[in-house]
Amino acid sequence: MAEEKYTVAMIGAGPASLYATEVLAKAGHEVVILNRDVKPGGLAEFGIYPTKYKMKTGLRRYFQRILERDNVHYFGNITVGDGADISLEEIRTLGFAATVVAVGAQGTKWLGLEGEEAEAVFHAKDLVYHYNGLPPFSEREFPIGQHVTVVGLGNVCLDIVHWMVCEEKVETVTAVARRGPAERKFTRKEYRLVSGALDVEALHAEMDRVAPMMEAIGQDPQQEREALLRYVDQALEKESDTVFRMRFLRSPERIEVDGQGRVKGLVCEKTKLVEPDESGRVGIEGTGDRETISCDTVVFAIGDAIEPSLGLPLSPRRDTFATVPQRWEEYPERPRYMVYDPQRQEPMWDTFVVGWARKASDGLVGKARADAVQGCEEILAYLGGEFPRAPEDGEETGRVMAGLREIFDGRDSRVVTYEKVQRLQQLEETEAQRRGVPEFKFVSQDEMLRRLEL
Ligand SMILES: Cc1cc2nc3c(=O)[nH]c(=O)nc-3n(C[C@H](O)[C@H](O)[C@H](O)COP(=O)(O)OP(=O)(O)OC[C@H]3O[C@@H](n4cnc5c(N)ncnc54)[C@H](O)[C@@H]3O)c2cc1C
Repeated sequence: MAEEKYTVAMIGAGPASLYATEVLAKAGHEVVILNRDVKPGGLAEFGIYPTKYKMKTGLRRYFQRILERDNVHYFGNITVGDGADISLEEIRTLGFAATVVAVGAQGTKWLGLEGEEAEAVFHAKDLVYHYNGLPPFSEREFPIGQHVTVVGLGNVCLDIVHWMVCEEKVETVTAVARRGPAERKFTRKEYRLVSGALDVEALHAEMDRVAPMMEAIGQDPQQEREALLRYVDQALEKESDTVFRMRFLRSPERIEVDGQGRVKGLVCEKTKLVEPDESGRVGIEGTGDRETISCDTVVFAIGDAIEPSLGLPLSPRRDTFATVPQRWEEYPERPRYMVYDPQRQEPMWDTFVVGWARKASDGLVGKARADAVQGCEEILAYLGGEFPRAPEDGEETGRVMAGLREIFDGRDSRVVTYEKVQRLQQLEETEAQRRGVPEFKFVSQDEMLRRLEL
């Protein structure tokens, strides 16, 4: 047990937050979680593909044990940020000993292409939140056409392909990548799920086209061809006539849109592979040749970005929250999770960032967990007085929570406690049984709050 017990504010309730909560709570500290969504889980609840029931149920059970601890306090339906339910500044003044930011990567990364503003151009995260039942995305219309192009070639891209094959049942879905088959980022398990929809003839034609470019940098096209065809006969799911194709070595340049704002195609510059650099990363360069992939819908699955409206200082490149810079000499082992105030040029000693909020779109739940656990070493070191600035005594947990309640009452913020979350889950389970389906989710915020009489 820690010598001193402190009250820590935890922003967000995704895997990074909950694994960090587990470490801090087990060390004897009180953790107060403030979460934007009604339910906890973050992308484990609203990102992981809906039919991965076993994984989702396992995570839910694990998180439940953390959230049921006496020294963990959950405030759902509370957004932190400037102009939201509560600001980071207000949280700091309430008497928390430390604040841990675990809000994931909620910003949208666009390529800045002409035509991106067309109605049928989507970002994967929004679509993923939509089909996983997260308000307000679940309440929004996503007009998907019949010929979908997905930009990116990682697991999120394959989740979108999966959705297009099994649920939207579109005519064609084409994944487009700037690099070649050997640089694909997806894993076998995800690929196997969609392999049944693969257009084998088109894959051979595409491999024939890119093979000389692969050979030119010493890659083995035959090996990649075999890997990509491996699961065609043992694919797990094929519930429609959707045809799935992959187009390699094409860099998106522009979305072609007609006078009525309808998407007509994705214009790409063909690329070629360049020998790997010192880090081993294969490069690409443009060839000047262009090609239009005909489609009526474009989905970008190119990773997410941090959301600056949270109110934390940003790094010089503005693509991450600012953490203590490498050149900071005053502390021999540079803290990697501690936020840094570039204006004052000093660390924000009591504020830490973990998980996808620290490094956007970085890996699976296991990686978010490892990051959170490692971050906790620093947080515990701070709470244990090992940094030049020690935590102030802070307020007693009951008073901090009363302060929060006062702010939320004054703003008509409707707080959902963990008890209420469990009530909601019971209602959803009953509804699933009544409908004879494995899972049911209320997808409207109003309905959720109405059912909870809030
Ligand atoms: C489409 C997709 C599919 C995936 N599939 C898998 C898979 O199959 N297996 C696997 O292991 N991993 C999968 N992952 C990766 C996994 O989901 C992430 O590694 C993990 O969820 C990151 O955890 P996090 O806590 O950092 O962020 P998140 O999970 O994004 O959690 C962020 C939390 O912060 C809250 N929040 C956001 N903004 C605010 C705010 N302003 N105020 C208060 N709270 C806020 C959110 O409500 C949420 O609870 C997938 C990811 C995606 C995008």
